[in-house]
This record gives sequence, structure tokens and C-alpha cells, in this order.
Amino acid sequence: MNDILPGESSSWQYLEDTLREVVHAYGYQEIRLPLLEQTELFKRSIGEVTDIVEKEMYTFDDRNGDSLTLRPEGTASCVRACMQHGLLYNQLQRLWYAGPMFRHERPQKGRYRQFHQIGIEAFGMAGPDIDAEIIFMSARMWERLGLRDAVLQINSLGTLAARAEYRTALVAYLRKHESGLDEDSRRRLDSNPLRILDSKNPEMQELIGAAPRLPDYLDDESRQHFSELCALLDNAGVAYEVNPRLVRGLDYYTKTVFEWVTDQLGAQGTICAGGRYDGLVEYLGGKPTPAFGFALGLERLLALLQAGKVDIPQHHPHVYLVLNGLQAVQHGMVFAEDLRNALPGMRLLTNCGNGSFKSQFKRADRSGAGIALVMGDNEVREGTVILKSLRDETEQETVLQQHVAARIHAVIEAG
Ligand code: ATP
Ligand code: MG
Repeated sequence: MNDILPGESSSWQYLEDTLREVVHAYGYQEIRLPLLEQTELFKRSIGEVTDIVEKEMYTFDDRNGDSLTLRPEGTASCVRACMQHGLLYNQLQRLWYAGPMFRHERPQKGRYRQFHQIGIEAFGMAGPDIDAEIIFMSARMWERLGLRDAVLQINSLGTLAARAEYRTALVAYLRKHESGLDEDSRRRLDSNPLRILDSKNPEMQELIGAAPRLPDYLDDESRQHFSELCALLDNAGVAYEVNPRLVRGLDYYTKTVFEWVTDQLGAQGTICAGGRYDGLVEYLGGKPTPAFGFALGLERLLALLQAGKVDIPQHHPHVYLVLNGLQAVQHGMVFAEDLRNALPGMRLLTNCGNGSFKSQFKRADRSGAGIALVMGDNEVREGTVILKSLRDETEQETVLQQHVAARIHAVIEAG
């Protein structure tokens, strides 16, 4: 679990602001969800035989003996909240959320025990158009961030019925080759055989490669849904690869699944993953409701931005106010308030704790501010302030206090 230190928080804010803008450009509304849920919710919605539920959840009993779990992902809570508040009743919903998720994994680069996701969920729309809209949205995110290397992989898991048929064929094949399965896979054979396709074990790749292929078992409806989605992507010029072995870790997916993958992050190359989960709402006790969503990992995106040397704007102060003398402190603090009133977007640091000119200028430099304003008792008497650039060698000038706001405004506008 990481601290995000002051030197890093600007990058986080930039990432969050940029993604929020994209999400809002599609008319999605934010939903804020609790960090804790009843353990049962995750067991039911994610599935008992998944990595998350089997070994990654932070679960504890509260004072009443209720079993609670720190959320490992957001979809379950989002569906729970929508059902509880009647948001799915004869309505379409386009929702997003952001925040920390918790999984007790083996920490490594790109894999943490507290990490941050932005999630998108759309309810009530069954057609491939919403699949496409949400994939477009993800593509726009990378474009806005200046990330060029992510590859879109898509696949269809079929309807629950088609998957059941495929599952039978897959299990028959895997049973025949049971000696080649590792321990995890053997355990999954009965409970979650599709997950075996997702195994990263190199010794099993050949066996997996020769397994029956999901696309050969697709029902007509899923086949058509998938080809219409491909046409929508083609039409919009969004490039993709069909990966017939792409299955998702969670049990509740149907039809479309997708991932954005990059080779820039080593083993942790998936930055965003999602798909259609038409079965979940009904499974949790609601009316049958088509649904589509994805979650992206902010830590991995940030690592990509840094690896790609993408310029991330830092929120340095614009102005550092140097104050020398008792009168200057008294007058200067009010002057700073007036400036903040006049220029709401400006970031101004006032020197606190006195200090010589030299040490105050050192602090000003360290703050990253572009401009120093200097006020001593002399300037107070004359109603002026000295304006000095900290970025270049232009001569300092004395400016009337009532003109300072306009001057700073001009400097900020000029960048
Ligand atoms: P992986 O195969 O990498 O374990 P997952 O299938 O468990 O991923 P999802 O539950 O689909 O991941 O989560 C969506 C995204 O959240 C991932 O693509 C990734 O970017 C991010 N993510 C998941 N787990 C972690 C983690 N432990 N630390 C950092 N980011 C994570
Ligand atoms: Mg995982």
C-alpha cells in the first residue's frame, strides 16, 4: 500500500482530471460507493473460485460479527447500490466511479495491495452499440494522455448457454490431459475451467494452445453481436486484435470481453479490462439487466506516462511573496488575500517565518514559482511591490500594488 507523496500528487491529479473529462464527454455520471461491503456480495458476484475471492480479499468480522470485506473491485458494489436504490428500474444508467481497491496479492511492479481504479458501468443496454461507445471512450483516454502503445484485444464469451456447451467440451479435453495440468488448474477443472485458459504458467501454454476454441462454440446471437461490434470499431477506425483465448478472471462475463495491453510494463501489461456481464444483476436478485463495463488501473497508467516521458503538468505556485519586516508581513498578508480574490486560478505562496532576503529567495526558487513579489517596509509606504521573474534574467521592476493583479494575470496567460 503506497503513500502518494506531495511530489507525485500533481501527476495523479492530472491523470484523474484528464480521465474525468473524457468520461464526462460521454455523459456518464459519478456514483460514490463505500469501501466496505458484506463479504457475501463479493463471493456471489465475483465467484467463489476466482483468485480474488480465494486468496486476495481483506476480510474481517466487525463488532457485530458481520463479515465485511474491503472492496477488491467496484462492479459488485455498483450493482448492489443500483439495485438497492431502484436505479435499474425501467432506466438506462451510464455510471463511473474512482477510488482505491484492495487485494492481498504478492506486491511487485504494477501490482499493489491498495491500488486505484476508475470504473465505468452501463446498465440496460443490450446491443453492441454501447460496447462500442465504451471502447471508444477507453481509446479516447489513451489518446488524451498521449499513450500510443496500447493494443486492444477483444473476444466473445458467448451467452451463458453457449459457454456451458463450450465448458463441457473444454473440461472433456482437459480431463484427457489432466497429467499436464498444474495444481491450480486441476483444482479449477470442475469449478472454473475457463480460467485455466488464462493461466500464465509457461509449461501449460502448449496444452492450452491445442484446447477447443471458444469462438467455435458461439451461438448465433453472440456471433452476430460480435460481428456488429467489430463493424462499429472498423467504422470508427479503432484498431483491435481478436484474441480467442481472452477470458476474464471474473465469472459473470457474457459476450464481449476486452483488454488494453501494453508491452511497456513487463508482466503487468493490462491497463484496462472489461466487458459485458448480462447475467450479474439477475444473479444478485434483480430483474434481468444487460450491463457493460470496464476498470482501469491508475498506477499502471501512471507508470506508462512516466515510461513514455509524457509531460505531466505540475501544480507549482505561480507566485512567491517575499516579505521583509513587521509592517510588510502585516500588509503583505492582506495584499495576498486581495490578489487571491482578484485571480481565483492563481497559486500564491506567502513566505512565513521571516528570514533574510537570501533565504526567502532560496525558498522561492525551491517552490517552483515563476514570479517573486517582494515587499519591504519601503514598498508598504509607497504602495508598491517589486516584481521579479524567477525563470529568466529580465530586470526586476517596481509596480504599483493595484497593478500587480493585471501583470500576474498576463504572465500566467502567457504560460
Ligand atoms: P491481472 O490479470 O493483472 O491480475 P485482473 O484481471 O486481476 O488483472 P481486473 O480485476 O480486471 O484485473 O482490474 C482491472 C485493472 O485494474 C487491471 O487491468 C489493472 O490495470 C488494475 N489492477 C488490478 N489489480 C491490480 C493490482 N493489484 N495493482 C495495481 N493495479 C491492478
Ligand atoms: Mg488479478
